[in-house]
Amino acid sequence: MACLFCAIVAGDEPAHVVLEDEHVLGFLDVRPVFKGHALLVPRVHVDTLLELPDELTVPLFSAARRTAAAMTSALGAQGTFVAMNNVVSQSVPHLHVHVVPRTKGDGLRGFFWPRTKYEEGEAAAYAERLRQVLVA
Ligand code: AMP
Repeated sequence: MACLFCAIVAGDEPAHVVLEDEHVLGFLDVRPVFKGHALLVPRVHVDTLLELPDELTVPLFSAARRTAAAMTSALGAQGTFVAMNNVVSQSVPHLHVHVVPRTKGDGLRGFFWPRTKYEEGEAAAYAERLRQVLVA
């Protein structure tokens, strides 16, 4: 199936481009959370963060950082929300970083982040399970 964001990278689908370099394209989200909401994508097709090669990690997140900085200097935002859906809630299966301009009192709530609590000893067990894989 054709990839929408590959088509945008190729110039076959329209987009309001905000940043372009050798590895990354940035463009406005067509349904912004707030105006200026941008998406940063690697030019090569990568499904999710898990498949992102190390050599593209710095270019992609550097572009996200520069875009976040521009939200302040160009749009007058006070801050940003930077996020990425991977598989679950990911509606376009071409890796993209959302950079959303934020202003205090803008009304955005942690609507998709209901918080939970650890039972006694559970946090240590979760940390240990992750450490077993991450600290080889
Ligand atoms: P996600 O749901 O995290 O995968 O985000 C996908 C995003 O792509 C959504 O916020 C959509 O509004 C946005 N989107 C879908 N189609 C387009 C398009 N043609 N141009 C720009 N953004 C798009």
